[in-house]
Amino acid sequence: MIIKNGLVFTENNTFAPMTVHTSGSLITALTAPDASDTNTTKNASDTATSCSANTPDLAEDTSVFDAAGCYVLPGLTDIHFHGCDGYDFCDGTPDAFDAIGSFALSHGVTSICPATMTLPEADLSGICENAAHYRKAQLCCKTAQQTADLIGIHMEGPFISAHKKGAQNDAHILQPDASLLRRLQKKADGLIRLVSLAPELSGAISCIEECCEEFRFSVAHTEADYDTAMAAFSAGADHVTHLFNAMPPFTHRSPGVIGAAFDTPSCFAELICDGVHIAPSAIRAAFRLFGEERIVLISDSMEAAGKPDGHYRLGGLTVFVSGSRAVLSDGTLAGSVTPLYGCMLTAVSMGIPLESAVRAATINPCRSIGMDKLYGSISVGKKAHFLILNQQDLSITSVIKDGLCLKAPHPKGKPADSRHSLPPQPYCSRHPAQ
Ligand SMILES: [Zn+2]
Repeated sequence: MIIKNGLVFTENNTFAPMTVHTSGSLITALTAPDASDTNTTKNASDTATSCSANTPDLAEDTSVFDAAGCYVLPGLTDIHFHGCDGYDFCDGTPDAFDAIGSFALSHGVTSICPATMTLPEADLSGICENAAHYRKAQLCCKTAQQTADLIGIHMEGPFISAHKKGAQNDAHILQPDASLLRRLQKKADGLIRLVSLAPELSGAISCIEECCEEFRFSVAHTEADYDTAMAAFSAGADHVTHLFNAMPPFTHRSPGVIGAAFDTPSCFAELICDGVHIAPSAIRAAFRLFGEERIVLISDSMEAAGKPDGHYRLGGLTVFVSGSRAVLSDGTLAGSVTPLYGCMLTAVSMGIPLESAVRAATINPCRSIGMDKLYGSISVGKKAHFLILNQQDLSITSVIKDGLCLKAPHPKGKPADSRHSLPPQPYCSRHPAQ
């Protein structure tokens, strides 16, 4: 496929007129616009990985996607969400994984690292095992083109503080346990990319020290003070789960997790930018504080994303959804109902430059879980996953995955509307933008 006439989001995190060439599931060349009709100049066969069975016929590479009037973004990556379209990742079934992946893809999210909840080990074990099987099937089956790539699992629990449990079920909270992590990772066949934990729990720091070569750790659902959080980062943690939410606030004498994360240059900070969890001023402050290279936008969406108002489930608890809010019976926020695309647009509506918001929803999440060699930016040798946006209103024109085009409806209107369902559409390999 050749994508031409668009403004391409480059490795420099700016937009530039460029032509993108793909072959099979990979990007093979980036050329100046006036060279757009010549074919590829660089072969990426040496960078191809396990996707060879997933490679479309080379004949498809001659198709041209006219992106005139559009931004060409890398496909988005959500590393923290629980579900959407009526399914939860913890349902653990192929049907759930398919539905979640299809919904994500139709909203421009081409790779996902969904989150588990605080559940018994037997449940987590089954979810990890089924996810590993699903990922294996994705890697060698052409149907993977119809769903987002499952590139990881984010374990959000069970190693959390009962005092900052948020919408998690405290009946299943456990102390950090390296052997449990390794048992689950074995079931997951290495798919666990991120482990959220509260560093003040007994054994947390030693668990991070012992396992930081095997897992990435994120400070989460915690009452930790500055010193305890710094101990976690010194031990090897390099991530904060939904900054501001489920942790003590930043104050002038108690900077807490937020201050410790700021003082740790290698630390990424997740933000739920759904217009509900964090005030616009705090979103702007976080981008300034951490810099656009360290912010990771997440949706934290649960199964009601894309569904009407009503009663839903999260981690075995009942969630009440009305508009853009999802809450437990006591009013505690219980995830969001806004897909990552909507969160990215909400950040822009709050004054974050588009380039910074795109970066925080593409390359930053991939870097934070160590998947940036193949995902997260438009670069030769990386996955041919793109989100095509109308330059006028940032509505979705098309989603391209593995070099094939998914026609998507145009979610017009305010970002708050973007939670509503966009039913997956059939793929077409040679369709220009509508
Ligand atoms: Zn979550």
